[in-house]
Amino acid sequence: MFNHYRTSGFILKKNDRGEANRIFTVYTKDFGKLDLLARAERKITSKLRGGLELFYFSEIEFIQGKHYKTLIDAVLIDSFKSLKKDLKTLSVLSKISEVFDSLVREADPDEKIWNLLMEVFKKLNSTRPEIVYYYFFWNFITTLGYRPELYNCSLCQKKLSPKDIYFNDKEAGLTCGRCENPTESAKSINPDAIKIIRIILKKDWLTLKKLKIKKEELGSLKDISQYYLSEISRRAGYVSSP
Ligand SMILES: [Zn+2]
Repeated sequence: MFNHYRTSGFILKKNDRGEANRIFTVYTKDFGKLDLLARAERKITSKLRGGLELFYFSEIEFIQGKHYKTLIDAVLIDSFKSLKKDLKTLSVLSKISEVFDSLVREADPDEKIWNLLMEVFKKLNSTRPEIVYYYFFWNFITTLGYRPELYNCSLCQKKLSPKDIYFNDKEAGLTCGRCENPTESAKSINPDAIKIIRIILKKDWLTLKKLKIKKEELGSLKDISQYYLSEISRRAGYVSSP
C-alpha cells in the first residue's frame, strides 16, 4: 500500500519529463521542498492541470512510491492572477522562486520560511515589487541562518560610520573607511542602502512603505544583495558537497 499525503504548497518550478509527464518542485507547508511527479500532466485531459502552474498556491495530494512521490490531486487555492499581469512583478516572482529553490534544502519543513513566503506573496499585491524582493531576500537569508552583520565593521569590529561603508569580498562583510583603501577590491556601498536593509530586517513594513528610495540606493541594494547571494550560494554548496 502507498502512503497518501495531503498538504498545501507553492509551485516553484516545473520540468518536462518524458512524453507527457512533469516534475513539479513544490514548497509544501508540512514537508518542505519536494519534487513531485505528475503523470500525463501535459495531456489536455489531465485532472491535475487546474491546480498545477508556476507560482500557484494549491492544495495537493501525493503518494510516496518506491522511486517517486506522485501527485494524484491538485486543487487551486490562489493563482495570484492579478500579480501576473504586471511584468515587473512576474520577474520578481521568478527571482524569488529561483533564489528560494537554490537555497532551501529538500524535505526540510520550516514554519518561519513558509510564513515569509506567504507574507511576501501578499505584499506583492500592494507595494513596489523590487522592494518586496529585497524584503524577501534579506529576511529569507536571515531565517536560513545567514544573518549579515550590518552595524559593525567585519575587520576592526568598530561601529560603522553612517558615511563610509564598504563591502569586502574576502571578508564577505561590511567594512569601514579606516580599514579599507577604496582603490582596492572593496566596493563602496551607499550607506542609505544599509539603512534600508536594517529596516527590512526589523520587518518595519510601515516605514519601508513610506521611504522614497533613490536610484543610487536601489543600485547599491542590488549590488550588496548579489554579493551576499553569491557568497551564501558558495557556502551552501560547500556545506552540502561530500
Ligand atoms: Zn574597520
